[in-house]
Amino acid sequence: MPILSYPNFLQAAERKLSDSGNTCGNHAVLTINLGRLAELDGILGYAAVDQIIQTIATQLADALNPEDLTGITGRHQVSCLLVNLLAHAHAVLAAHKITRILNSPFPLGRQNILLNPCIGVAYGCDKNSTIDLMMRNASLAMQQALQEKELIKLFVENPEDAYLTQLHLWSDLNEAIETSALHLQFQPQFSVASGKIESTEALLRWTHPHHGPIRPDKLIQVAEGSILMPKLTQWVLHTALRECSTYRKAGIDAGVSINFSADDLREPDIIDLTAQALNIWNIPSDRITVEVTETAVMDTNRNILDTLNHLKDMGLKLSMDDFGTGYSSMSRMLELPLDEVKIDMIFVRQMTTHPKHERIVDSIINLAHQLNLTVVAEGVEDIDTFRRLTELGCDVIQGYLIGKPMPLTDFIKTVSQQSFEFLQPALSEAGDSDQSIPGIMNSR
Ligand code: C2E
Ligand code: CA
Ligand code: CA
Repeated sequence: MPILSYPNFLQAAERKLSDSGNTCGNHAVLTINLGRLAELDGILGYAAVDQIIQTIATQLADALNPEDLTGITGRHQVSCLLVNLLAHAHAVLAAHKITRILNSPFPLGRQNILLNPCIGVAYGCDKNSTIDLMMRNASLAMQQALQEKELIKLFVENPEDAYLTQLHLWSDLNEAIETSALHLQFQPQFSVASGKIESTEALLRWTHPHHGPIRPDKLIQVAEGSILMPKLTQWVLHTALRECSTYRKAGIDAGVSINFSADDLREPDIIDLTAQALNIWNIPSDRITVEVTETAVMDTNRNILDTLNHLKDMGLKLSMDDFGTGYSSMSRMLELPLDEVKIDMIFVRQMTTHPKHERIVDSIINLAHQLNLTVVAEGVEDIDTFRRLTELGCDVIQGYLIGKPMPLTDFIKTVSQQSFEFLQPALSEAGDSDQSIPGIMNSR
């Protein structure tokens, strides 16, 4: 059977389906991604890569039944229509057969290449299934396989299907960024030494028109790995710095911390995006902190270290977020140009009830201070935890006790009116008189 081009594949498939009385239920489409070949486009040229795909498609057609169809349906994509299946499971068996063929090293000149394929499988569900629908479903399953790094993924017809929801969220998020339907909330960070709010953490918020509020970590997951991520980061950077300049003009002398994801650190334009935002909003660069998670910075990719050094050279501060939950190596810690660590709230929230948690917090504070780093504790919800943290020498406190994340106007109102006198007894108990806070004393 010849290898068909995309339009010919669709036409031939439609004919096959109508010849069999459109009983799509006996058929399946397999869509095979050969994205690894994209790397060769720039090395060998399109014509040579097309030839390789033709060879691969021929191998696949030879392995299938003679009445099945094989076509090249995308730049690095081959699809097969399997007809007259005795059982749906036979489509999965065919997909396994194909992965065995494609997972053997493919000879190229004197070298072998690994194709790392992944396959989406979609059955025709009933008589009404068209080839278009089966192709769409196989393609969705293939995207899901790619994302989840699986070899074979089966399309499951279910409107609540996580991947479809994610796909819709992706386009809705794209629109939300373009129409500025997102907003930021600011959570105060209280400095023990000055008794004032010295900074805030900017946290992303999105209320989806149908799904309601979407958790920011979920939102980042939707954007990551796609062109949305740099767009979103650009939006966050500009909005955080603009709103920070608004509260600074309103008399709140606080900086701002912005979360960067692992994707952000790998983004080639991240330095330019940050420099542009700094130029426009004119906030002293040492009042801006970039928070990165342990896991993101433990990627030994050289570019990540270069990016962090670059941000640091621009005068920004760097903070290691969620400290204690990732898998830091001490040598990597020493390599990173850090200013701050944030102790993860899983240790903080249980430190007054679990002695082991308290010992971990104590050790992190000591280690950080040995390395001249500022220590922030997040998730501080009660005065006992606050008192213990200040006794242990923690520098900055963040959590519901000080303030929840708030929209800009609420933040300005709350912080302008709040004198934090309620913290004074805990601070006085926590230590000697040096611990009493100038900010609080001044406010009296
Ligand atoms: P994170 O950076 O660890 O942020 C701290 C989270 O703890 C926030 O959740 C905050 O609302 C919550 N929190 C603060 N104080 C307390 C407390 O006392 N008790 C409790 N139970 N929770 C507290 P949120 O806003 O849901 O953010 C979740 C995560 O989403 C963040 O974790 C961060 O990883 C990510 N995120 C948020 N905004 C952005 C952003 O603009 N960019 C990126 N890349 N990630 C973001
Ligand atoms: Ca954070
Ligand atoms: Ca955190």
